[in-house]
Amino acid sequence: MAEFDVIIIGGGPGGYVCAIRCAQLGLKTACVEGRGSLGGTCLNVGCIPSKALLHATHELHEVHENFEKMGLMGAKVKVDWAKMQSYKQDVIDGNTKGIEFLFKKNKVTYLQGWGSIPAPGQVKVGDEVHTARNIVIATGSESSGLPGIEIDEQTVVTSTGALSLAKVPKSMVVIGAGVIGLELGSVYARLGAEVTVVEYLDAITPGMDGEVAKGLQRILSKQGLKFVLGAAVQGVDKAKGKNTVRYTLRKDESAHAIEAEVVLVATGRKPFTKGLGLEALGVEMLPRGQVKTDSHWATTVPGLYAIGDAIVGPMLAHKAEDEGMAVAEVIAGKHGHVNYDVIPGVIYTTPEVACVGKTEETLKQEGRAYKVGKFSFMGNGRAKAVFQAEGFVKILADAATDRVLGAHIIGPSAGDMIHEICVAMEFGASAQDIALTCHAHPTYSEAVREAALACGDGAIHA
Ligand code: FAD
Repeated sequence: MAEFDVIIIGGGPGGYVCAIRCAQLGLKTACVEGRGSLGGTCLNVGCIPSKALLHATHELHEVHENFEKMGLMGAKVKVDWAKMQSYKQDVIDGNTKGIEFLFKKNKVTYLQGWGSIPAPGQVKVGDEVHTARNIVIATGSESSGLPGIEIDEQTVVTSTGALSLAKVPKSMVVIGAGVIGLELGSVYARLGAEVTVVEYLDAITPGMDGEVAKGLQRILSKQGLKFVLGAAVQGVDKAKGKNTVRYTLRKDESAHAIEAEVVLVATGRKPFTKGLGLEALGVEMLPRGQVKTDSHWATTVPGLYAIGDAIVGPMLAHKAEDEGMAVAEVIAGKHGHVNYDVIPGVIYTTPEVACVGKTEETLKQEGRAYKVGKFSFMGNGRAKAVFQAEGFVKILADAATDRVLGAHIIGPSAGDMIHEICVAMEFGASAQDIALTCHAHPTYSEAVREAALACGDGAIHA
């Protein structure tokens, strides 16, 4: 038995970042992780492996689609799926080992095993019970699936199975047109699978700016993905070598079916808190399974905090990390803070999609007067040079004050470009502040400046 100032249960982006910050703030810290490696969903079966496969298949797409256009002739690239999988695993291992190194460097004790909380101030791992003045629940989330669809992780899979399929399927149905479904759908479409995305709502990427969603659907359709929208999936029938996805179209209740070698169920994720013993402790939970917390991530039991996917808010690694750092500050007696109004969201398709702040739809609902500055990448020399001129940058600013309220980008490196807007929003900047900032040429970021100019007297290259 050991005594700690803080024990964090879960070694994902929320938990490991929290542990490192606690240790940096002088607290004796342990982090419990049951899966056998640090980094959580994100590093092991989420953000990182999906980006490795997106990168590899993006390069393949470049060879097939764009090499000849640039005079790069004769490139014959074959896919070695086993090798691509081992590349992906090397990327995972490099990252997860990196966290172990950071734990050693910062003197965080890594407790390997599944943790539970038998009583306030106690964490049990295996047969050992450790004590801690503060406990942080950072146990993340799991795929939520659909009622009646049995996941086998071989041919009817969640994202976890989809990252490690035995072979590249000839056909795939993706149920759910959210971020994970579109990213993994893109991976397999680029590898040659016939991919159909079936979505319950009438648009892809629910919650995102409507214009961006339409633009992305058009671009992905050109890349070969098929979309069936407004479709309620009824079930999946399994037979040898093929699965049949049955759905009804919501507009007329007509029944349809599609066959596919692999079905990816990407209908969202739900908080994971099983086995912690929260019910016995009397921790209040929310109806959707999240741990209830106050604005300082404290649960209803003193000394017990919760962060990341296990609580409300967007299920994103960087949101979990920010909460991890902030709760560490709170526990250390400082002032932890997360600005939930400025959390970017990115889809790592080609082109990327990135957004932050309000959408036009929410501004309309709120009845707020706003102006739109939009700039197409067709006017951006750099984007044209790399055959990625299809998207645009849209900045939304307050009609009266010009303060930036949100931004939505579909275009090359959108996921990196969005941070310029995030910083501007954190500083309460106006669109004119961005427009008056010199941007290097030729960069994709010039499109951000042009969109900011379009909020005022007009873009130059439009
Ligand atoms: P997790 O990362 O889920 O970590 C929780 C950890 O706690 C797990 O390792 C689990 O084993 C451990 N644990 C649970 N219970 C116990 C217990 N009782 N004892 C010990 N250990 C326990 N987000 C992004 O921001 N960008 C992306 O590009 C992105 N891509 C994604 C792609 C996919 C395919 C998926 C599935 C997710 C993706 N996400 C992405 C979401 C991101 O992975 C999560 O938001 C993030 O991992 C949440 O961090 P967390 O620390 O709250 O939980």
